Amino acid sequence: MTLLKSINPYTQETLAEFPHLSNDEIEQKLDAGTLAFSLWKKNDFAERSKLMNRAAQVLREQKEKYAKIISQEMGKVIKESQAEIEKCAWVCEYYAENAEEFLAPEPINLADGKKAKILHQPLGIILAVMPWNFPFWQVFRFAAPTLMAGNVGMLKHASNVPQCALAIEEVFTKAGFPEGVFQSLLINSEAATELISDQRIKAVTLTGSEKAGSAVAASAGKHIKKSLLELGGSDPFIVLQDADVQAAAETAVKARMLNFGQSCIAAKRFIIAEEIYDQFATFFMAELEKLTPGDPLDKSADFACMARPDLAEELYAQVKKSVDLGAKILFGGEKPEQDRAHFQPTVLAEIPTSSPAYSEELFGPVATFFKVKSEQEAIALANDSEFGLGASIWTKDLEKAELLAGQIESGGVFINAMVSSNPLLPFGGVKKSGYGRELSRLGILEFINSKTVYLG
Ligand code: NAP
Repeated sequence: MTLLKSINPYTQETLAEFPHLSNDEIEQKLDAGTLAFSLWKKNDFAERSKLMNRAAQVLREQKEKYAKIISQEMGKVIKESQAEIEKCAWVCEYYAENAEEFLAPEPINLADGKKAKILHQPLGIILAVMPWNFPFWQVFRFAAPTLMAGNVGMLKHASNVPQCALAIEEVFTKAGFPEGVFQSLLINSEAATELISDQRIKAVTLTGSEKAGSAVAASAGKHIKKSLLELGGSDPFIVLQDADVQAAAETAVKARMLNFGQSCIAAKRFIIAEEIYDQFATFFMAELEKLTPGDPLDKSADFACMARPDLAEELYAQVKKSVDLGAKILFGGEKPEQDRAHFQPTVLAEIPTSSPAYSEELFGPVATFFKVKSEQEAIALANDSEFGLGASIWTKDLEKAELLAGQIESGGVFINAMVSSNPLLPFGGVKKSGYGRELSRLGILEFINSKTVYLG
């Protein structure tokens, strides 16, 4: 039987191994989820809020323990893991406080004097297929609104983070959620796709790659179930001639290097006005030089390694092919050691349109620089991508920035700031970055039957 392995990517030490669930065990969990839903949906918001606030408390009390599990299992530096746990507590508290108002019945007065209302009711078991890059945050931003709405959740986490999957289930258990309201399933991706066909699963959300999203959405479509996809991104970071170049470069490095570049909303393509290009490049590389590498558990480390050796290899192959096609290396660019997850931060320029660095997502610490002659060229380049998740624009002219923001094909535009997620703001993409929205009121409405009741 194949095992799910928890491997420290920094040392390649195997930390733990887990068997996949058997079919009988999956059945039991589906039954437990069904029973839990029949009771959980009847709880009032006050009861659900009490437990969700307790989940936030458990996260804060056990922050060090959970942060360590994240860092050891996928290589994120410990200060970022701690911040991730804090953010999960925040999203729990946000929905504990706001869910009732977001889902309150909406009265509608009709022209003939009649009345109607919209009721927002839960659907049942929602399956979440989640990635390893923010192994707690991605799950909590799904679970907090979903459970507060009266649904129950089942998690199929990425295969390299089984300890995170179990730890998240533990948070809900410790908080006092009834059995079956949130369950982690240690299963592979084929079993997850098959699960979608089960009539007890009502909808599915996936955060991950285009390939996985397409497979999950195809299965959901076949079985007429709602799906939500949060996929990859190749976010542009546009710096116009009148920007504060130093501030832009400092933020640019943070936006590219957070989570060692393994973030869907990381800035990936730096589109710079030609007048300030050299200055920006100098500042950017000076900022990169300041970052301290180290062990994921080292509190002073700014970056450690990628989450798996195959990811480092794949990223290097994209860099190598791009360089072979004519891209220039401005920084880094060395080949990673075989079977290691370490990677040298890299900057590429003069990117040929035929190269992977132009058209593919670079899911790691590789920045691509583009020099443009005009604002319209910057927007056209920003939009010349299959992805449309986030974008960042830097200029002192806020009126112009808002105008340009309207022309960018993406789910979000941040002006003079890096793209980030925040419980109060809708999060999601267009084009091949997916569909649907998480967070804010829009997020909690995704897995809901918005039922019209007409009073005749
Ligand atoms: P991934 O390989 O697509 O995996 C994501 C999840 O999907 C994992 O649980 C994986 O399980 C599962 N999966 C893979 N293939 C599947 C299939 N055919 N059927 C059902 N499930 C399947 O992605 P990743 O490498 O973990 O994450 C990186 C990608 O996620 C990047 O493209 C990134 O931009 C994107 N991402 C997007 C967002 C967003 O909010 N838009 C956030 C974070 C990441 P296994 O691990 O068992 O294969």
